[in-house]
Amino acid sequence: MRKIKKLIVPMFIVGILLFSCIPSASAWSSHGLALSYVLQNENWLDEYDNITITEYSYEDVDTEPYSPDFVIRYLEGSIGEKTTAKKILTTYADEPDWNMDTNLELSKLQILTGGSQGYRHQYYGLGFLRIGAGPKRAQYWFDLAKIANERGDLYWTFRFLARGIHHIEDLTCPYHGVPAPIGIIFSKIIKIGELTTIASNHHYNMEEFQGQQINHTNPEWLSVLNEAEPLDLNKVRSVTWLGQYAASISKNNVRSLWTIENELFGEKISNPEEWLYTEDPTFSFEGKEDVVERYNEEILKSFTNFATFSRTFLQYARINIGL
Ligand SMILES: [Zn+2]
Repeated sequence: MRKIKKLIVPMFIVGILLFSCIPSASAWSSHGLALSYVLQNENWLDEYDNITITEYSYEDVDTEPYSPDFVIRYLEGSIGEKTTAKKILTTYADEPDWNMDTNLELSKLQILTGGSQGYRHQYYGLGFLRIGAGPKRAQYWFDLAKIANERGDLYWTFRFLARGIHHIEDLTCPYHGVPAPIGIIFSKIIKIGELTTIASNHHYNMEEFQGQQINHTNPEWLSVLNEAEPLDLNKVRSVTWLGQYAASISKNNVRSLWTIENELFGEKISNPEEWLYTEDPTFSFEGKEDVVERYNEEILKSFTNFATFSRTFLQYARINIGL
């Protein structure tokens, strides 16, 4: 017991240092677009092709706070018009990033995740320390989808599911599990500001690269989204469990990603200055084709989880909500 007590303080300090260098990021780029490729093989959704857009009316059960800046928007049509389940899911899979969770006081620990948005979209683990409400938020939206379905409101059933899937997908992003390899954190422990910028550089350049593959419809990436198999649904204990599991396996790729990023992007990524390769006209991938290929493969390992966990969440919802 005394040994455990002795460990708590140093672990907590490392935790603070670790988490305080996390940028409040939005995780994968283009949730909705990437999800549209996952949904191509979810044929059961096609029968939901005539859903009436209804006005939000869940104040009685949707009791967790929204950001004061958040406004509900209807992007695919007006209230009373028709839409489809696939359209709702792909339109609103990005909605939790639209100012829904900013400027809130949720937890004293939210400072360690870059604020309330980071707190609700992430789930960091170090030893037994866990920070972030990502998995719980996925469960929260899933439970509301169930209520909407019981009320006979298919529009909000799928819109709440879109919000839930966003959180599950966020948790498959490696840099949302840990911001940098532990060895790097220790080596920079007295230069936290520097570490913060370097960790952000790795995180944002990875997302930029990933976003470009999807936006440029790289066939290898699209087939990963198309073909990834779901997890065994019998093992899924709850949506919270699914989110926690996603975070626990995704962060394992951070060390290998970090190494390749150093090789591919060169010293600029490790300078204590913000740098994005897409904004640097002097940067080019020329002559680095083999590194690009390795990077591609490494991110794809994590991005497969995006598809696997999205699919698992939807199929779990189909069974447990009765869709
Ligand atoms: Zn997010």
